[in-house]
Amino acid sequence: MGFFAKLKEKLFHKNSNNKEKEVQNKYVSGLDKSRKNFVDKLAELKARYTKVDEDYFEELEQILILSDVGVQTALNIVEATRQEVKLQKITDLGQINEILVDKMFIAYANNDIVETKINLEENGLSVIMVVGVNGVGKTTSIAKLCNKYKEEKHKVLLAAADTFRAGAVEQLKIWAQRVGVDIVCGNEKADPSSVVYDAVNKALKEKYNILICDTAGRVQTRQNLMDELSKMNRIINKVSGHEANEVLLIIDATTGQNGILQAKAFFDAVHVSGIVLTKMDSTSKGGIILAIKDELNIPVKFVCFGEQINDIQEFDLDNYLYGLTKGMEVQSE
Ligand code: GDP
Ligand code: MG
Repeated sequence: MGFFAKLKEKLFHKNSNNKEKEVQNKYVSGLDKSRKNFVDKLAELKARYTKVDEDYFEELEQILILSDVGVQTALNIVEATRQEVKLQKITDLGQINEILVDKMFIAYANNDIVETKINLEENGLSVIMVVGVNGVGKTTSIAKLCNKYKEEKHKVLLAAADTFRAGAVEQLKIWAQRVGVDIVCGNEKADPSSVVYDAVNKALKEKYNILICDTAGRVQTRQNLMDELSKMNRIINKVSGHEANEVLLIIDATTGQNGILQAKAFFDAVHVSGIVLTKMDSTSKGGIILAIKDELNIPVKFVCFGEQINDIQEFDLDNYLYGLTKGMEVQSE
């Protein structure tokens, strides 16, 4: 049985509990725009063809590319679909859609375990650094993470280490207050590493178990920014005895391939351990997740579907593909 059939079976299983359903619904509504774009285009394609030929596959490639899947990934997925269709001698266009989703699943999972777990210390302090260019949703995502961990009964501390942009510290303070977590701030234009230094010390002394550090998205030059980020991680290492447990890079889904290029720039400075993909609700090009996997090979750990505090989900490949393809025509009339 292919992935798609298993997915349907799993997701429509009567026994899935309320919590699972709630998460599924978040994916389905968060991916509204992307699904509409993707499913409508597939339906339109299916309506125009009566049999599958090379033109059909070319158009399929275009649909994937226009969903920001990435050119190479799109070519790979369609090639795998083409092979499978040939092997199984399939002529039914609906069945091809099922195979397509199977191949999308494989393109992401690719025999790896899809690791989305956040690496936290069993005992003692875990440090999460959050990096990314301005405007991608760093501060908002930090607030969401704080809230999530607080609800899970962790003792959370924030470090407002984006001291470069006027107002950034104030913005984080407001979130900290709203969520009800403590925060360490430096003076405006303070050395961000000194803020991190103070925060790690406080966290150790007062037995916080998660410290989340906001960072600048832009300083005078790119080199300065990269130096600053690596310095911060050295401070974390020196004071806490280990480097940041997670360095989460925030990517704005609406920026498409640009976001992927930005990401690559950060790899020089810090060891990025996971991606948080924001603004999935605002894009119709939800295929970006597959491009990230293919071009960066760093796991997407969280996806954000809105500006509210609860609009964050641990990334789940099944739910993502379900949200992207729900209602897709899989049988010919
Ligand atoms: P930062 O500069 O990286 O810290 O970005 P901010 O956290 O200040 O966010 C920039 C803008 O993006 C704000 O208006 C946020 O409300 C908005 N934003 C962040 N995440 C999401 C999301 O998942 N969906 C939507 N629609 N907007 C978001
Ligand atoms: Mg910010």
